[in-house]
Amino acid sequence: MKLAVLGSPIAHSRSPILQELFASRCKVAPFSYEKIETTRGTLDETVKRLVREGYGGFNCTMPLKTDMAALADTLTREAELLRSVNAVTVTGNVLSGATTDGGGILLTIRRAYGLSGEGRTADGRFLAEKKVLLLGAGGAARSAALSIVLAGADLTVLNRSVGRAEALAAMLPSGCRVGALDGETLCREAAGADILVNATPLGMTGREKFASFAFLDALPADAVVIDAVYEPLETALLRAARARGLRAMSGLWMLVYQGALSFERWTGILPDEKLCGEAFERIGR
Ligand code: NAP
Repeated sequence: MKLAVLGSPIAHSRSPILQELFASRCKVAPFSYEKIETTRGTLDETVKRLVREGYGGFNCTMPLKTDMAALADTLTREAELLRSVNAVTVTGNVLSGATTDGGGILLTIRRAYGLSGEGRTADGRFLAEKKVLLLGAGGAARSAALSIVLAGADLTVLNRSVGRAEALAAMLPSGCRVGALDGETLCREAAGADILVNATPLGMTGREKFASFAFLDALPADAVVIDAVYEPLETALLRAARARGLRAMSGLWMLVYQGALSFERWTGILPDEKLCGEAFERIGR
């Protein structure tokens, strides 16, 4: 099976390490997964070449996800609503586009709850009725929000520019509550939230930091904190959450699980929790 990841820049991508580990442990052979530097201007010709050369599929990352949604012949419901594709399966000349980013966050939350097991899926039923507080309204937040809402959770989105949070809410089949990402609103909304997800770059290496972690004190003692940021692996948000006894998960898990769900789309095999744990260790080095 020949696969690839397309994007620009792509040299830093950890996806080949991840996919090759999944393939070797799941005994899928022959298997190759290469990085192909692809810009928005070269996406069309690159995709045509991959189809011609018999590739079974590919991942798309920045800045190609929206353009790939327009190029695909079929889209999953989530990819259609988001107009975003990160995993494509090629069957003959037909390109089937999907997004595994939202499923990746559901499996990350599921792991935080210790709900691993046989026959697991990314349907997120365990999230029904849970209160989720999501920070950010960009690409990562949109994927997370859609999967969280489709799983039946009660979602609130806080964003620096409220207009962008409103646009996110309008994309969701059942909407969500929105507000401003300021300290006061954050503390108020954190009270009673079961899960807090940071999908802003706050705390990322070289970017602005959170002004305060007072909102963590407002979270219930059994709350889960997920940070989409994974550079550094252990962010100040995760450290502060753990210091308060909260369960906290790095965004690297989201990367592992979106890759696992892509692998499942191509091979029919979903890497199990043990293998995902091994992948986390491997790409986190
Ligand atoms: P994006 O589309 O550019 O969106 C950025 C979001 O963060 C926007 O909502 C923006 O608010 C907000 N933001 C930016 N700077 C801010 C600041 N200084 N204070 C408050 N809010 C700020 O980016 P993205 O692709 O969604 O990525 C967001 C983060 O998630 C990045 O750190 C990225 O590395 C991470 N990520 C992780 C994964 C994973 O697999 N773990 C996947 C994708 C992304 P405005 O709307 O007001 O500008």
